[in-house]
Amino acid sequence: MTKATARSPWIVHANCNSCNGCDIEFLACLTPMYDAERFGVVHIGSPKHADIMVVTGSVNHRNARVLRNLYEQMPGPKVVVAMGICPATGGIFADCYNVLGGVDKVIPVDVYVPGCPPRPEAMLDGILEGVEILARKQQDTPTVKPVMKLKIVKPAPAPAVPAPAADREQAVKA
Ligand code: SF4
Repeated sequence: MTKATARSPWIVHANCNSCNGCDIEFLACLTPMYDAERFGVVHIGSPKHADIMVVTGSVNHRNARVLRNLYEQMPGPKVVVAMGICPATGGIFADCYNVLGGVDKVIPVDVYVPGCPPRPEAMLDGILEGVEILARKQQDTPTVKPVMKLKIVKPAPAPAVPAPAADREQAVKA
């Protein structure tokens, strides 16, 4: 794991059909009261720059494709944290006609944080657990160095040096 990733996990938040209870608690984690930034956590809007995805709410037929799309845009290795009982099992929405259930029906989940909603302290605990899992995944992932194609540029031939003026005169006389 790079020092940068260990000290500043970037997190993207995906809200799947949540009642907003978990989302409000998650936002509380980012406020100065719980201060997730002391762990280097950065909340970002793009999955393309995220190491960890926090999912709230249950998965239904409509948002399953969106969730999978977000997950596939994250660079690997990556970690998914399911916040609350809804992304774990479907929660109170489990019996709805359109609900598939937990997030693991669509994408792999690494950390489950129980509660309805979980307290911010539990959410922070889950995120730090996710950081440790991310570290293990990164150690198991071989580093692939990009192949750099070198283009060898040969220097142009030096221009011919003109003969000195005296030599030229003798050459003309001869
Ligand atoms: S776990 Fe509870 S608080 Fe969180 S989204 Fe589901 S119903 Fe709302």
